[in-house]
Amino acid sequence: MKARVSIPPPPPPRGTLADRLGNSRRELRGAFRGTRERADKSTRTIVVGGGIAGISAALVLAERGVRVTLIEKGHELGGRLASYAERLPAGDSFQMERGFPAFYRHYYNLRAILQRVDPDLSILRPLADYPVLGPDGARESFAGLPTTAPLNLLSLLRRTPFVSLRDLRNIDPEAVRAMVAFDPQKSYARFDTESASTFLDRLNLPTKAREMVFRVFCHSVFHDERSVSAAEMLSMLHFYFLGNPEGMSFDVLEEPTGDVVFSPLARILASHGVDVRLGESVLEVVRERGDRIRVKTGSGELDAEGLVLAPDVTGLRAIYEASPMLAEDATFAATMEALCCCAPYVVFRLFYGQPVNDERAPFASIAGHGALDSITLYDRFEGESRRYALRTGGAVVQLQAFGLDPARDDASIRTELKATLGRLYPELEGADPLHEVYVRGASGPSFAPGSGATRARVATPYGNIAIAGDHVKVPFPSALMERAASSGIMAANALLDRWDVRGESLYTVPPRGFIASLGARIP
Ligand SMILES: Cc1cc2nc3c(=O)[nH]c(=O)nc-3n(C[C@H](O)[C@H](O)[C@H](O)COP(=O)(O)OP(=O)(O)OC[C@H]3O[C@@H](n4cnc5c(N)ncnc54)[C@H](O)[C@@H]3O)c2cc1C
Repeated sequence: MKARVSIPPPPPPRGTLADRLGNSRRELRGAFRGTRERADKSTRTIVVGGGIAGISAALVLAERGVRVTLIEKGHELGGRLASYAERLPAGDSFQMERGFPAFYRHYYNLRAILQRVDPDLSILRPLADYPVLGPDGARESFAGLPTTAPLNLLSLLRRTPFVSLRDLRNIDPEAVRAMVAFDPQKSYARFDTESASTFLDRLNLPTKAREMVFRVFCHSVFHDERSVSAAEMLSMLHFYFLGNPEGMSFDVLEEPTGDVVFSPLARILASHGVDVRLGESVLEVVRERGDRIRVKTGSGELDAEGLVLAPDVTGLRAIYEASPMLAEDATFAATMEALCCCAPYVVFRLFYGQPVNDERAPFASIAGHGALDSITLYDRFEGESRRYALRTGGAVVQLQAFGLDPARDDASIRTELKATLGRLYPELEGADPLHEVYVRGASGPSFAPGSGATRARVATPYGNIAIAGDHVKVPFPSALMERAASSGIMAANALLDRWDVRGESLYTVPPRGFIASLGARIP
């Protein structure tokens, strides 16, 4: 099973400036090669992991007639984004989110999956702006910038108060060229072994500008700049900002993730006959005679013609370690042995009995204030939290912190996050929340310097086994939920190709940076 996708040239210029500059959504060439509409009735596939990647794979396969069994270790679908039921002290129940998901407009493949349950995407609501709040009252915003490179970068540099003309003269031009000349292959070959912090030292931006603009790109993959690869950071910068035809604004869910995303997706899966098994773990994978795959779970065994492995990195590593057949290919074994988790992160939800000032943004990114990375005011956009605020006159605030020191204890993190919130939003200083829910995790993937070469790909040397998840390297810029959905669709397509069944189209932002697409070399 070979990855045959290729990066298409820019589409022929159409009307808009973005089109003329080649900065618009592209359909991936060669995303599938099957020709039949439906698989034979007897074709079976097992999908391991019920996060976005596994659900996307299961859906695409089942829609084409494949008999799918989806096995999820947890008790609900959604993985890292599954919400779960909690209770307030007064007895009211609410859905706790494991993370605040920002649905960017250029998440083309994820949105196509969500449209299965909501064709108009009416579950999403736009957030007009999200400021970055820095030290000493500093404030930056990515709103209102042009959506075409290099105009977006030039406009940001022109309007930001954090970079003066003199600073611009001190910036390393080669590093700037590397940013605007992003190329999914060449940038990894050139920059993956160095850390984002080494790259940013060379770029030589003033400290505050570096903190205000680049922290968000490193922390959004759950790392600080010393422990994330410079190539991954450049990829994020291209994917979210420089090469993003839709701009950096995003949408949020109007109700809890479980209610409006994962329960409806579960119903759609069921309507296609997918056998969803919750609370069951896949322990081992075995190859049978005749190329069939057998998986052993906590409660039995199953076999199928195809297998999609879409657990998080810890789950995948455990399955690999228990499955000698997965170690037969030395290169694949090296990939599995390199699987590694991100630094710890924290999601801390606070239910206050008093409101937050009206002028606060529903979501703010935080830079230069210790561990705190974001403040979300849930009652400003989510129905369940709004109903709480109406009942109590209070507010539902969610704090997130990424890239934490693994040695830090929870008590000190909680104290620091609340104190920082009080400094930034003084109306909450010293206020005692009526209720708190604190979630600590570390189940995201690591993108450490030098990890690009061994990162898992969708295709494996084992033909009818494909890998999906937000850790998987896809051949176009992508990240987080969008990478999970894209790799899930790619994994389904790879299996469908084997059975000569038409797969699903895939879309990407322009894969290369402005300068790279003009043919300039990466410095
Ligand atoms: C706090 C936080 C905030 C986030 N914010 C954003 C955001 O704003 N925007 C964005 O795009 N992304 C965001 N993300 C990232 C996003 O959640 C992930 O990229 C995405 O959910 C990954 O999906 P996945 O399917 O690859 O993996 P997962 O969601 O981890 O799913 C893997 C599943 O496999 C299951 N599993 C593991 N082992 C086994 C086994 N042996 N047998 C059966 N099942 C198994 C697990 O239980 C899990 O359900 C955020 C994440 C967090 C934690």
